[in-house]
Amino acid sequence: MSEVIGRFAPTPSGRMHLGNALSCLIAWLSARSQGGRIILRVEDLDTARSNWDYARDIEAELRWLGLDWDRGGTDADGHSWCQSRRSEIYTEYFDRLQQMGLIYPCFCSRAELHAASAPHRSDGRFIYQGTCRSLSAEEITAKTRLRLPAWRVRVPDREISFTDLHYGPYTENLSQECGDFIVRRADGVYAYQLAAALDDGLMGVTEVIRGNDLLSSSPRQIWLHELFEFAPPRYGHIPLLTASDGRRLSKRDGDLDIETLSRRYRPEEVVGMLGYICGLTEELRPMTAKALIPLFSWEKIPLDDLRLPEGFPEKLGF
Ligand SMILES: [Zn+2]
Repeated sequence: MSEVIGRFAPTPSGRMHLGNALSCLIAWLSARSQGGRIILRVEDLDTARSNWDYARDIEAELRWLGLDWDRGGTDADGHSWCQSRRSEIYTEYFDRLQQMGLIYPCFCSRAELHAASAPHRSDGRFIYQGTCRSLSAEEITAKTRLRLPAWRVRVPDREISFTDLHYGPYTENLSQECGDFIVRRADGVYAYQLAAALDDGLMGVTEVIRGNDLLSSSPRQIWLHELFEFAPPRYGHIPLLTASDGRRLSKRDGDLDIETLSRRYRPEEVVGMLGYICGLTEELRPMTAKALIPLFSWEKIPLDDLRLPEGFPEKLGF
């Protein structure tokens, strides 16, 4: 079997939240338990919202948690692991899609999209109806004078399937459940789907572990992997972290960022708590990330939301 390469892919738009730490911990445990390597890619595509100070803080917080990586990060290899420095690469592949006739400009405004779209049955996502799919060259020229377009990739009318490492078989027909999707925004910023799929392919990532809010992104990314002739990675999605009463956490739960938690707890206490709520240990006790490696198994992790212990973050019942 070829080498496992997992990845951390933080977006440096704020301090690292406990939910992101959980995703990183599971990605790290999965790769390390198979003798694999980890890369760190900084997903700072949206330069208006990201900054390298946050990226460096996140790196320090990962180290604090005991999670290391083998390649990547803000300062490695002339910043080439930061998406903000990779736009020439994205442009090269974007141009290829254009030459193959696989993408087209979309001039729809947000309001037009909402008016013309049907909400997706399960997650409220809008299905693009293909309004701009077959505009003539004249129409495109005329419309470009009024507004810069976003660019969409054509999707196939067939099922795209994969087996999630945690949730098992997952299938989606993109044409019926998503529609042609955006690969470059009207402001010229490449879309997350394009950058993530390309980077995973070019960086040789074999395993993508992330929160299950991104489960439905996977068929879109697999489609891009197919177009670029990469072997898609394996995907493993993990349940969302909620408060002890099941309430969804948000960025407003500021006391759950790693920096704040590090003033109250030792890293083994935070990691031990995450390992416990993931079912990797049978009792709540301090654990290093390293000590969790031999205990890691997907079967132990629940499929439903993971609830934080009662009283956390004020106290932990060690
Ligand atoms: Zn359109």
